[in-house]
Amino acid sequence: MGVYEDLGLTPIINASGSVTRLGGAPMSREVLEAMTDAASESVPIEALQAKACTEIASFTGTEAGIVSAGAASALTLGAAAIMTGWDRGRMESLPQTDAFPNEFVVAREQRSGYDHAVRAAGARLVEVGFNEIVPGAGVRRTEAWEYEAAFGPNTVGVLYVFTPDSEPPLAEVVARAHMHNLPVLVDAAAELPPRSNLIDIPATGADLVAFSGGKSIRGPQSTGILAGRRELVGPAFAQLVDMDDHPALWDPPKELVDIERFEGGPPRHGVGRAHKVSKEEIVGLLTALRLFSAGAYDEEVAGYRPRLERIAGALESAPVTCTLHDRGDGESFPLLDISIDESAVGKTAFEVCESLRKGSPPIYAGHGKLAQGTLIVNPLHLDDASAGALAQRVREELGAS
Ligand SMILES: *Cc1c(COP(=O)(O)O)cnc(C)c1O
Repeated sequence: MGVYEDLGLTPIINASGSVTRLGGAPMSREVLEAMTDAASESVPIEALQAKACTEIASFTGTEAGIVSAGAASALTLGAAAIMTGWDRGRMESLPQTDAFPNEFVVAREQRSGYDHAVRAAGARLVEVGFNEIVPGAGVRRTEAWEYEAAFGPNTVGVLYVFTPDSEPPLAEVVARAHMHNLPVLVDAAAELPPRSNLIDIPATGADLVAFSGGKSIRGPQSTGILAGRRELVGPAFAQLVDMDDHPALWDPPKELVDIERFEGGPPRHGVGRAHKVSKEEIVGLLTALRLFSAGAYDEEVAGYRPRLERIAGALESAPVTCTLHDRGDGESFPLLDISIDESAVGKTAFEVCESLRKGSPPIYAGHGKLAQGTLIVNPLHLDDASAGALAQRVREELGAS
């Protein structure tokens, strides 16, 4: 019996990848061992975050970095830092921000549920541009001048969500923002791989960049990275860490904080105190970041395509069309689309997806294309046995067994 069976739970086959609701990415043995070692002794968390700062800075080409409680946490901490700087009074008042600039300009087409993390710090989002391609009412994307036109006395920064086809390009938005001395906070949570993005996204001049630690880096699920300018990472750090030290003994790490900035004593617990990160998680994330940056997962990734091809092969006689999507860059995961001939099967892809979840073993396929009659198979958590079980269950559901 495993720990989940002891709790009366049945482990599932995860064909959805590193999604949070299914527990994130698989951690390597090195990461788990490092976390076990980290648990056996105590160190000051601030000193550990200072070591993380140096490592993250070197892996991202930035001045500074901290380990946050996920990319969403990094967005809250980053937004907080941009609004407060080193001002203890402002730090104390978050998320109340009426008394100082609190507006982040964001492209309307880049809004998502994740920007709640920015608003949680007390920021207001001011939208620019339209989302006219989705309703079919036009063809133009957001344009850089629209950001500039929205800047005003209450503007404190820009929020930008990075994807390979985000428009306008990040570098253009950074240039416009910097002309007005406004910082740019980037959500790049899921933009690894390619691992070159660790360097390339900050290299646009963006002031703060958030990456997930629990996606392709394969660190602890509840970790993230906030990297960028020390002048902003420092205040983010000060609003994350536990402040219940003796004010006269508090000795923050020089990598992150110039103590003169807090003349008169340290700030109190900040808005990020609820985002605390454990020593085990910090060590786990750093270990995973080293592995990811060194290409340690590439060999495993090379085995994903043949495994997905075997699933497609096992479905050859079933009423489906299988399509493999593979960027072929040696880092990104291939994905398998299983498009169901719904009229031949007499079931919709939604019904098949639901039956797979409720069946034995429970299987969670990617649900992003159900409306188009398609199940998506993400190979990150699959081995030969679970891939075989998945193919078998899909055949059964399609009456092809
Ligand atoms: C996954 C994701 C997040 C949240 O990342 P966590 O590390 O789970 O907090 C934020 N933004 C985008 C675009 C994401 O894909």
